[in-house]
Amino acid sequence: MLIEVKYCGICGSDVRLILDGILATGMIPGHEFCGTIAEIGPGVEGWKIGERVTAVPYTTCGECYYCLQEQQHHCSRIKIVAVNPRMPGAFADSVKVRASMLRRLPDEVSDEEAATVEPCAVSLHAVRHSGMRAGDSTVIFGAGAIGLFALQCARMEGSGSVYVIEPVEYRSHVASTLGADRVLYPQNLNVVGEIRRLTTEGADIAYLCTDTPPVLHIAMDSVRKQGKVIVVAGSLSAEVVPQLLMWKEIEVKGSFMYTDNEFSQAIDLFRQKKITTKGMISRIIPLEELPKMIEDLSHPASDIKVLVKP
Ligand SMILES: [Zn+2]
Ligand SMILES: [Zn+2]
Repeated sequence: MLIEVKYCGICGSDVRLILDGILATGMIPGHEFCGTIAEIGPGVEGWKIGERVTAVPYTTCGECYYCLQEQQHHCSRIKIVAVNPRMPGAFADSVKVRASMLRRLPDEVSDEEAATVEPCAVSLHAVRHSGMRAGDSTVIFGAGAIGLFALQCARMEGSGSVYVIEPVEYRSHVASTLGADRVLYPQNLNVVGEIRRLTTEGADIAYLCTDTPPVLHIAMDSVRKQGKVIVVAGSLSAEVVPQLLMWKEIEVKGSFMYTDNEFSQAIDLFRQKKITTKGMISRIIPLEELPKMIEDLSHPASDIKVLVKP
């Protein structure tokens, strides 16, 4: 299937892949996209030219251990858009995907929202995977797109107080408008002391949604005994004190991508207006400006989500 790309969002992982030189030569990045069907593959039924779609940016085998458990994101034969050499990404006029990856977009979901379904699914998975219970106090490190969607998903799943830690003023402001009870600026404050003061024992769950600077040890310090730390951003380094894990019996859990089902649920959350991108899409740029924007986004910036419009 050929999709004419309407928008493709820039992800933190795109910035890292490109600037760290990890991206294979000649590979087109971009996995957060929406568009319209321009060409239908031979033998494919059920789709029409011009239909508005987004796509789960991976294909799976459907028969391995993980696929059978509906944990498709761990499929042993997974192929990920912009990672697999035969699946170039969507920073382009058009992108080729398999029909099985396509998801139809309801009229209620705008093109801008549709381009953020992917990061929203990442956050939804993180909150579900954390086993949050109603009333749990929550700390979110980082108010980028993942942190802000995690904030909204946590609220939706019945979290008690939600505290967000974010040094950049504009992002903090958006976190407040999207429902954070308090936004803490790490530069002026002993974050751990403040979280302890606000929650008495420490937070029930912390979500790590930033990888600069590495703050895993602070997250571990900010949760209560037997609390949980969910690692959503893949920091390249961390300082962990095993004693802290042992004494406090902290559970540190990774959260990677999302299941097939969670991706579809993220579309539905936008349709039901349970999730919003209000204040989050900071810029829409033409494809030509992508290289410079990638460079700009490597430094701490006020931008939350930048969309590329080819
Ligand atoms: Zn992404
Ligand atoms: Zn599989």
